[in-house]
Amino acid sequence: KLYNQIQDLKGNIRVYCRVRPFLPGQISSSSSVAGMEERTITINAPTKFAKDGTKYFTFNKVFGPAATQDEVFSDMQPLIRSVLDGFNVCIFAYGQTGSGKTYTMSGPKVLMEESLGVNYRALNDLFSLQAQRKGTINYDISVQMIEIYNEQVRDLLDDSGNRRLEIKNTSQKGLVVPDASIVPVTSTADVVELMNQGQKNRAVGSTAINDRSSRSHSCLTVHVQGRDLTSGTGTILRGCMHLVDLAGSERVDKSEVVGDRLKEAQYINKSLSALGDVIASLAQKNSHVPYRNSKLTQLLQDSLGGQAKMLMFVHISPEPDAVGETISTLKFAERVA
Ligand code: ADP
Ligand code: MG
Repeated sequence: KLYNQIQDLKGNIRVYCRVRPFLPGQISSSSSVAGMEERTITINAPTKFAKDGTKYFTFNKVFGPAATQDEVFSDMQPLIRSVLDGFNVCIFAYGQTGSGKTYTMSGPKVLMEESLGVNYRALNDLFSLQAQRKGTINYDISVQMIEIYNEQVRDLLDDSGNRRLEIKNTSQKGLVVPDASIVPVTSTADVVELMNQGQKNRAVGSTAINDRSSRSHSCLTVHVQGRDLTSGTGTILRGCMHLVDLAGSERVDKSEVVGDRLKEAQYINKSLSALGDVIASLAQKNSHVPYRNSKLTQLLQDSLGGQAKMLMFVHISPEPDAVGETISTLKFAERVA
């Protein structure tokens, strides 16, 4: 209900901004965030960005540093529930490395009940509705976990490693990556186990200074199939939800990085701008939507546009020395909002 109330002219696209708190031990005497209201955020901007030193950005909603995981989730719950009615949904976490993307989607490294992120809460919620509707509509829920790194698609639930996967839109089952493992889930414990497995596989090949997780996109895809027992024919409903923790959006200085690091940066740049182009052209209701320009947009094609619903979380870090990235993040978001 909330989702439909907030829906505006842009239809099925919503953009939320979330500001990370200062971290323990950080000196928090000043912040680049000058003010926050329900839908507007004000940034203390150096004069090269704004003559009078402030910049305003407006979104569907702004979550301040004190917002809890529960508050964030409650707001998006109706959107998530619509998957059980056969809608396709995409939820993105966008922002520079360290701004809180993984915190929103998964939670902090040490997970407590109250710090569980959207991924866990979403599946929990689907499980409880599954139980409630049992006998009326019977649902099967299964998940895939996929990583896109340097425009290559990898199965995070396949421990054997580096098999490259193809994106196909042709499978009868409606799977976009039909060769990736698809695992039925029935409980939160199943999900926790799979997420841990995926995290482990994501870390393969990374070292402390070469944290791959910040330079790849990871996508938890939830497939839902429901059989409506109240209709004589047992109508089948299919819905799909992508929960995407995007690669860090920070721009790298081309004069400072070379080799693999430069290549990674170029791939990230390409895929994030392809995503921005797709969403912007959907928002403008253009007839041509450029899905083909990146693996990420190809992967999500069926869940972006048409009847599909999208929520983009843009994350910002409050530190004054991150203000350049903060403004470029907010500009990216404003383009699609
Ligand atoms: P990203 O995934 O964007 O690189 P992280 O989610 O890893 O960023 O966040 C960076 C650090 O900030 C982590 O230690 C994380 O636990 C912490 N953090 C992020 N957002 C919050 C928040 N809303 N509340 C408390 N701690 C947070
Ligand atoms: Mg992260």
